Amino acid sequence: MAASVMWFRRDLRLHDNPALLAAIEEARDAGGDVVGLYVLDDALWRRAGAARLAYLAGSLAMLDDACDGRLVVRRGDPREVVPQVARSVGARGVHVAAGHEPYGRRRDGAVEENLADAGAVLTRTGSAYAVSPGRLRTGQGSPYQVFTPFRGAWLAHGWRAPAPRPREVPWARLPSDGVPAAPPCDARLPRAGEAAARRRWHEFVRAGLAGYAEGRDRPDLAGTSEMSAHLRWGEIHPRTMLADLAAAEAAGLPAEAVATYRSELAWREFHADVLHHRPDARRRSLRAVVPDDAWANGAAERDAFDAWAAGRTGFPLVDAGMRQLLATGWMHNRVRMVVASFLVKDLHVRWQRGAAHFMAHLVDGDVAQNQLNWQWVAGTGHDAAPYFRVFNPVTQGKRFDPDGDYVRRWVPELREVEGKRVQEPWRLDPPPEGYPAPIVDHAHERRVALDDFERARR
Ligand code: FAD
Repeated sequence: MAASVMWFRRDLRLHDNPALLAAIEEARDAGGDVVGLYVLDDALWRRAGAARLAYLAGSLAMLDDACDGRLVVRRGDPREVVPQVARSVGARGVHVAAGHEPYGRRRDGAVEENLADAGAVLTRTGSAYAVSPGRLRTGQGSPYQVFTPFRGAWLAHGWRAPAPRPREVPWARLPSDGVPAAPPCDARLPRAGEAAARRRWHEFVRAGLAGYAEGRDRPDLAGTSEMSAHLRWGEIHPRTMLADLAAAEAAGLPAEAVATYRSELAWREFHADVLHHRPDARRRSLRAVVPDDAWANGAAERDAFDAWAAGRTGFPLVDAGMRQLLATGWMHNRVRMVVASFLVKDLHVRWQRGAAHFMAHLVDGDVAQNQLNWQWVAGTGHDAAPYFRVFNPVTQGKRFDPDGDYVRRWVPELREVEGKRVQEPWRLDPPPEGYPAPIVDHAHERRVALDDFERARR
């Protein structure tokens, strides 16, 4: 007899999972078991690219192990599957961490109604964030539009201590469609699952955090934590990470490194908060910054986009980033900014096309973080980079990949070019074989972008 259902979604872990604790408590009170459920939702499965699905399959396999092999995986529409499972075991309660993305909110509302018809209740405990999106408001009661005051309010609000991992869970045994096989995927993906997330995090705190403030902008060094996919799938909760950061600082780690890392987590929470209030930001620019006729179209747009997506623009830093994305399902943040700026401001392609390509390939692809970071770069978001700030891919390369190691790692045609000369291969005589000439003149396209911006302001 099962008394409660723990419906896992983007919280694929047992540590620090308050919704799971609530499910266990309810089951215990009723003298029953807990169904650990994951629903393979076709609406989401169809949209995600092979890399994200392969990563998810790996993460579910790890979760199944942690659930003593009793994770119940069902394929179908959660609006039907979840009430069916609850009804079949006589569960009164289904427990989740609240979803905040537009699709997740709609889905949960519908599941809640269908459960009520079946005499069961959907209980939301916690979320994927330290402070749930929508909770913080300005003194005037409106949502925050600017990051720095949001971060101030977020720090002042604080968060709970991590919840303990349950010692034992009375998992119910139910028929399962089984953990899905990973689809074929050429990318070399990071290890998935809660244990891998915790190992990576502890290793970063021990060996990487102290140098984070200086190293985080250098794609040629392993200077960042590479925790984004683990956070995306909830294999670790940011609350756990924030508690470890406080402990690291108390143990003497440089306050600046800790504050910088905490601030990056705050960006994640800010974007989730913005999307919570503005679900339309998933597709629409929050502000229009250039006239409609500024965008490339037809064959010109297609060719420019294809060269960008394949990493064949002739700009080494851009191409290295786009190829890193295809090869690993991940890209360094500094390079994400450079390639996004290049697509929007040098190639005049709308940010939505780039965001869709990222979502198809990133293992950490997350609607709030992806769409709002694209809007940040495109200058269309709340508190975005001003449109007139156009990243120069060569200068960025010389500054953040000073010896050219990052470019050489991802662009084999340039492997024989030594030092920072690799950032400007068109200056070499003869030019490297097999590598394209620049597809645009950056100085010219920058002027076009600025003129477009001026036209919109007038
Ligand atoms: P670290 O530097 O170690 O940062 C630690 C954590 O802080 C990250 O794991 C992430 O959760 C958070 N963080 C860091 N930078 C940002 C940021 N700019 N915005 C929000 N959170 C941040 N991140 C995603 O998780 N999913 C996405 O789909 C995504 N798309 C992006 C698209 C563009 C165009 C840009 C410019 C950035 C995008 N980011 C996205 C943000 C950022 O690039 C990644 O979170 C970061 O590169 C992940 O690497 P890391 O874990 O080593 O980061």
